[in-house]
Order: sequence, then C-alpha cells, then structure tokens
Amino acid sequence: MRVRTDRGADRDTSADTTADAGAAYDARPYLPRRGGLASLRRAAASCRGCPLFKDATQTVFGAGPAHARLVLVGEQPGDQEDRQGEPFVGPAGRLLRKALDEAGLGDEPVYFTNAVKHFKFTTSERGKRRIHKAPSLREMTACRPWLEEELRLVEPEVVVVLGGTAGKALLGNAFRVSEQRGVLRSLPDRESADAGPSRAGRPQFLATLHPSAVLRAPDREAAYQGLLADLRAVTEALG
Ligand code: SF4
Repeated sequence: MRVRTDRGADRDTSADTTADAGAAYDARPYLPRRGGLASLRRAAASCRGCPLFKDATQTVFGAGPAHARLVLVGEQPGDQEDRQGEPFVGPAGRLLRKALDEAGLGDEPVYFTNAVKHFKFTTSERGKRRIHKAPSLREMTACRPWLEEELRLVEPEVVVVLGGTAGKALLGNAFRVSEQRGVLRSLPDRESADAGPSRAGRPQFLATLHPSAVLRAPDREAAYQGLLADLRAVTEALG
C-alpha cells in the first residue's frame, strides 16, 4: 500500500504492519530472546514498534561501557545523532560532556542513551531544517522496553534522568523535572521501572535539566550552573 506521508513523500507501507494506524505501538516483539548489549543494539536497528522509524535515518541506540556505574538518559536523538547514529554527539551532547567534566565525572565511564531511539521531527517551511518534536506518551511507552533492557544489562548504580520526557518514560506521566531535580532517589519498584538489581542494590536516579534546555534557557549560565550542581550530587554519590 502506498501512502502520502506528512513530509509529502510517497511511501510503501505494506511491511509496516505494527506501525499502521490502530495497531499497537510496542517494541517488545523486536527484543532478542537472549544476548547482551550488542545483540540488543542489533535488534533495535530493525525495530518497527512505532511509526518513528519511518522518517528517521536510523535507530540511535545507547553507547558506552557495558557495565558503567553511571547511565545518562535523554529524551530522543537530535538531528546530528540521527545522522551519525550515536547519542549525544550534537551541541547538547557537547555541553553535557563539558558539564560532566566540570562536575568531576570526566573520568567516570558513562553509558549514554535516550528514552526514545528514533528522531522525531517536523520540517521547516522551506524543508531545509528538521525541527525536534517531542515524542508522544504512546511512542515513549512503545520504546521503553529497550531502555529497560539497557538498564537491566548495564546494572548502573546511578541513572541520571535528563529532562521531563526521560523522567516520564522511566517514572511515569506524573513526573515533573522541576519538582524532582537534584535529589538522589531509588528507582520506584514498579514493573515498568524495574531495572533489576545493581551492584549497589537498586539503582538510584537523579533528575536534572536536559542539556538542550540549558542551551535554550534565557539565562544560559544560571541553567548551566544548575545542571552542574545536580551532577555534583552524582559525583558525591559515586564516591
Ligand atoms: S522509537 Fe523506539 S519503539 Fe519506535 S520504532 Fe524506534 S526503537 Fe522502535
């Protein structure tokens, strides 16, 4: 079946059965039955669990050491990440790495990932720019099995939740970063957030701003200092 996409291009959707209108959005059918992070990453490359794969260039899976003590979870890949296939390689990622360094986490092996693995965007009027669009709750929920599996396999001690979307994906729709940021807490014991035991028991999480929110903030320096203060709490927790 050929359809007209919202970007104006004709597309053959005959094979996109799980992403058709009315179909369940769910990444679980694409999860491998066994294996580590490498097999998870390979399987995610073919995920069709929601429609976001259609317009994105590729799946942007997590990256970093297989047993990092620290996992950072963002919202979704941005334009550069989508092109390069790696998380946090654009302007927000550069700011985040600078902040990690200044917070004393520069030598800490970190696993970087996102709550949603495909780039969601609209195109500018002239069609030259791809503009970030927030994923829907349905898309976040569909994609969450990949994040759960990453956390189960990496077994971090601390998970840093970057921004509201990542927080909602891990902690539920009531999460508000403004209410919960900067304080280390245990990941709640709920099926969807069950990341499995870490080396230090259940992983802790800390919420803070997404670095792209720092870049957009009217007072960028104040927002950056806030991010730094939150990350320093993580440095202290990891010893
Ligand atoms: S966004 Fe997630 S659930 Fe949707 S197709 Fe991509 S990997 Fe699958």
